[in-house]
Amino acid sequence: MIYMDHNATTPLDPTVLQAMMPYLKEHFGNPSSSTHEYGRIARRAVEEARSQVAQLIGAQPEEMIFTCSATEADNLAIKGVAWANRDKGNHIITCQIEHKAVLNSCKSLEKEGYEVTYLPVDKYGLVDPDDVKKAIGDKTILITIMYANSEVGTLEPIAEIGKIAQQKGVLFHTDAVQAVGKIPVNIGDLNVNLLSMSAHKMYGPKGIGALYLEKGIKLIPLIHGGGHERGLRSGTENVPGIVGFGKACEIAQKLLPEEMPRLRKLREHLVKGVLENIDYVQLNGHPEKRIPGNANFSFNYIEGEALILSLKDFAISSGSACTSSSLKSSYVLIAMGIPEHIAHGSVRICLGRSNNAKEVDLLIKRLIENVSKLRELSPLYDG
Ligand SMILES: *Cc1c(COP(=O)(O)O)cnc(C)c1O
Repeated sequence: MIYMDHNATTPLDPTVLQAMMPYLKEHFGNPSSSTHEYGRIARRAVEEARSQVAQLIGAQPEEMIFTCSATEADNLAIKGVAWANRDKGNHIITCQIEHKAVLNSCKSLEKEGYEVTYLPVDKYGLVDPDDVKKAIGDKTILITIMYANSEVGTLEPIAEIGKIAQQKGVLFHTDAVQAVGKIPVNIGDLNVNLLSMSAHKMYGPKGIGALYLEKGIKLIPLIHGGGHERGLRSGTENVPGIVGFGKACEIAQKLLPEEMPRLRKLREHLVKGVLENIDYVQLNGHPEKRIPGNANFSFNYIEGEALILSLKDFAISSGSACTSSSLKSSYVLIAMGIPEHIAHGSVRICLGRSNNAKEVDLLIKRLIENVSKLRELSPLYDG
């Protein structure tokens, strides 16, 4: 089985596992137990990991809050800012192709009386910064736009939107789960005030995420308790998870200069191989403004699910892990203006560290064979 679904999750890097092991065994202390060495060892490990995570995005360690997932980081950012700024306004700006963690956080705020603008995207999945500017009003308290889309890989113009947010004095959050570790992400270049990330999308463990929160920004926490993470995320720290996240960030930073161009080349090879050898197929997302390893294709006249099932030895998907179990077309593709019948024939291929050119060549070969076979069975296709 060849794994090519790295946007859904990634395998745990063996070095990350190795770094975590002592904290699952002998270093089991509670970081809040400051009276003995068990606690102090755990505290030091958490704080070292906080520095490693911060360093990957050019932030200060004290600006990082550990959460139990990026879903939680998105919820904390959006609801936390909304609740803390209720006296200033009730309007939030986001876009139609956000991850469900963002969309459903916004939906839940609508039930509380907040107003949300869901900006459209163009055929590449890009948000127009001008649309953001026009949507800002007196009551706007937050803009939340994702850095990279997990289905089509499109990179949003975050720095441009950040500049607009800054000029207008509106807080700006980005869900950067699919960007961090894959492309250089530096807080200093972006004018973002809050940023979400997740360990398991970058070869770290599941169940650990982080929110970058610029100094001085007030949030109302989702979870109340003993006041961990500066009172913003109570609950005894997931020490092994945090240590693993830190190590994963350190490794990602080290590998990025070689992995980014390598994956981009592999993806370009895949796209070329598919578009040149198969008729009636389109690449979804922007041709260049996309994360290195992601390709998303729509094959006319066939069902994406059928194609995926036919490619038995490849682990690929039709879209996000959260929506691919329902047989509905992807809301991301629909928002990009792709007709339903074409969206149905979509598959997402996400290359990662373990993939090589030989595997990509084999996938191209299989896609050519299987698309042709499935089309022969399709009543809609007459050659
Ligand atoms: C995976 C993902 C999330 C959720 O991350 P979890 O840590 O699994 O909760 C949020 N946003 C994007 C863009 C993602 O790809």
